[in-house]
Amino acid sequence: MSALQGILRHLCPRCRKGPIFRGWLAMYEACPCCGLQFNRGEQGYFIGAMYVSYALSIPPVLALVMILWRLGHWSVSAAVIGAFLAYLPVVPFAVRLSRVIWIYVDRTFDPH
Ligand SMILES: [Zn+2]
Repeated sequence: MSALQGILRHLCPRCRKGPIFRGWLAMYEACPCCGLQFNRGEQGYFIGAMYVSYALSIPPVLALVMILWRLGHWSVSAAVIGAFLAYLPVVPFAVRLSRVIWIYVDRTFDPH
């Protein structure tokens, strides 16, 4: 299985069999299959996932702002508020995906 498939299926970056999440946003501390500790035991490990989340979220929100502003003829402030409100249902998906991407990127550059 490729890394991209592992990311999209939210599977462990080492064995690509064990799930990372045990609930909607609840994560396993370690892989149920191979025991890889996902957060490396570090406080604040997932702060790096916030940067990934920004990178995932800003382009679609900006696109929504542009669509509402230019095509919908909304004011800029109304378009910004409307775009953020429209994006709110996507936030849990972005949080999950950003955490998985962060784990994969971290494990790629520092596997041990
Ligand atoms: Zn694993």
